[in-house]
Amino acid sequence: MSDTKQDPPPASPEEIGKKLEEFIRSQFGSNVLFTSFREVGKEEPPPMVTPVIEEEKDEGEHWFDFHYKPADIKAHLDRYVIRQDDAKKVLATAVCDHYNHARMMREMRKNDPRAADEIEFHKQNILVVGPTGVGKTYLIKHIAELIGVPFVKADATKFSETGYVGGDVDDLVRDLVAKADGNIELAEHGIIYLDEVDKLASAGDRQSRDVSGRGVQTTLLKLMEETEVPLHAANDMRSQLQMVFDFRKGDMPRRQVVNTRSILFVVSGAFSGLEKIVARRLSKGVIGFGAKPRDEGRTSEALREARTQDFIEFGFEAEFVGRLPVRVVCDALEENDLFDIMKRSEGSLIRQFEREFAAYGISVKFEDSSLRMIAKIAAEEKTGARGLMTVWEKTLRDFKFELPSLGLQELVINESLVRDPLSTLAECREKAKTVQVSVAAREVESFAEAFHRDYGLEIRFDEEATQLLVERTSREGSSVADLCRKLFKDYAFGLQLITTNTAETTFVLPRRAVEEPDRYLSDLVIASYRRDAPPAIFD
Ligand code: ADP
Repeated sequence: MSDTKQDPPPASPEEIGKKLEEFIRSQFGSNVLFTSFREVGKEEPPPMVTPVIEEEKDEGEHWFDFHYKPADIKAHLDRYVIRQDDAKKVLATAVCDHYNHARMMREMRKNDPRAADEIEFHKQNILVVGPTGVGKTYLIKHIAELIGVPFVKADATKFSETGYVGGDVDDLVRDLVAKADGNIELAEHGIIYLDEVDKLASAGDRQSRDVSGRGVQTTLLKLMEETEVPLHAANDMRSQLQMVFDFRKGDMPRRQVVNTRSILFVVSGAFSGLEKIVARRLSKGVIGFGAKPRDEGRTSEALREARTQDFIEFGFEAEFVGRLPVRVVCDALEENDLFDIMKRSEGSLIRQFEREFAAYGISVKFEDSSLRMIAKIAAEEKTGARGLMTVWEKTLRDFKFELPSLGLQELVINESLVRDPLSTLAECREKAKTVQVSVAAREVESFAEAFHRDYGLEIRFDEEATQLLVERTSREGSSVADLCRKLFKDYAFGLQLITTNTAETTFVLPRRAVEEPDRYLSDLVIASYRRDAPPAIFD
């Protein structure tokens, strides 16, 4: 037996849990329940087990069968995104390069890790230049969906405006893990899209952002290159606790860091003013570039010529621009493009409106004239395709509210509706009324037919009587059948009496029969006893 002093054994999960429980009770009192995250009332918590670190499981395996070619990705994008051909091609190619490389590296690492480490690869992070609402996010979102990787979007201003907080940009990576349902390996191949990066520039009138903007650029640099981001932020108490709970349950996650090597970064911005910098450099001959703000064609032409030095002059750190080797320009959208977006894009919001109305049994038909009109108004908003939603929302607002209650089954959306929605809505109300009246009138006839079937007596309501019945049903909210049954409950007996006296079998009921049915019937009956009584029809 050896008397060598041994280190105390490592704390078991039970002990950790117990200590934590004591700590929580001491801080918050015994009213605070300490439990693992599980649904109350469900089965017993799993027994405490010492976590077994599993052998690396291929969480992302399904993803690594990446098999797309640039043309496949472009073809997919063509279904949804109108114009932006350059951007589609460049993005599709860069994405294929990026993910093919990631797949190759993964295979190599399995077979020959040393050789894999020696391979040089310049990451193809992407810079997209273009105004708002032209499909920048839409492109990236569709790429991420197609290839099945998580996608996170944030505005760069979020980081600069709050002052530079180191942890913030790391949150983007953690958000990817959340989007990947905790699948770290998949998150490590996700796409982070950072909009409004132009706001991080520090030149000219952007002095106020100097410090934070530059700071964020520097932090992003590390992220874009390769770094390890802790899975749980140090100041995120909840995640830290979750970690302990997972440990207690034996679900110890395999890894606690996320490597950003294979995360694809896409940054974008409008970069207004960059075209002037480019023009100045390019020429002397191209005086007045950007002078006319509406001349979007010339602006994007100039932006296409932008080089690293122009971005640096714009206010970026050389290293930052250097990490964004793939650059592409998205064009401003014109009226015709907006029309095409509505008419041809598979993601058109017209389809959305059709579905929304269809939910109430209303079929809407959009005539091209309305799409042209909306495209024209939206183009004036200068917010790209975003303007479409704004203009449509305003145009259809009252229809969406009122139409479901009118009972109309179809709506044609044409130019005159777009010009004057309220007048068209008033017409719809009128139409709905006519439809309601004819439906109700038909129901009055049905009541008369049923009466004939049941009692062998023919009753007919004259025009005024029918109209009054229809008015009353819509006013009182009852059905025609119910109202008639109530008003004319004694008519079978009364009219049969009259038939006995006069042999009359057909009765035309006037307005008075609806206004005071009992009195009218009794007058008829009394008259039928008089020999010289006039026929009921003339009463
Ligand atoms: P941004 O360029 O500011 O990132 P988005 O991509 O978010 O703009 O566009 C907003 C919405 O407008 C998209 O969700 C999409 O419905 C529509 N949209 C924008 N551009 C296009 C386009 N080129 N083709 C089809 N739809 C588009």
